[in-house]
Amino acid sequence: MDCLFCKIFQGQIPSKKAYEDENVFAFHDIAPMAKTHILFIHKKHTANVNGLSTIHVGQVYAAIKNFTAGTELEKEGFRVVTNTGAHAGQTVFHAHFHVLGGEKLKGFGA
Ligand code: AMP
Ligand code: ZN
Repeated sequence: MDCLFCKIFQGQIPSKKAYEDENVFAFHDIAPMAKTHILFIHKKHTANVNGLSTIHVGQVYAAIKNFTAGTELEKEGFRVVTNTGAHAGQTVFHAHFHVLGGEKLKGFGA
């Protein structure tokens, strides 16, 4: 499987790991868009979020909940973003969930 994020969670490409459990892997984004910017992925390869079952999505959100529990992210807040397809600007086609925080984030819209 020639997939950047599969290679990252399998350890074939280095990353700064933030979290791992049986199903989910998380690592720091190489080009952070906030003070804290971590990518959560399910270990099942699928191009975008619509390929994940509701159980898989639940496992990713449970991982995010576990990771943020008791941290500044939980206390002060964070944002989860999933880009899907061209209009959203998705660039890596292994479904991923951006977790952004660590500072006051800019709002959506103009
Ligand atoms: P998206 O644009 O939603 O597909 O997000 C892809 C994200 O992957 C971007 O925020 C990139 O900065 C990030 N990214 C690309 N390559 C790497 C890498 N080798 N390690 C960590 N993050 C990466
Ligand atoms: Zn993959």
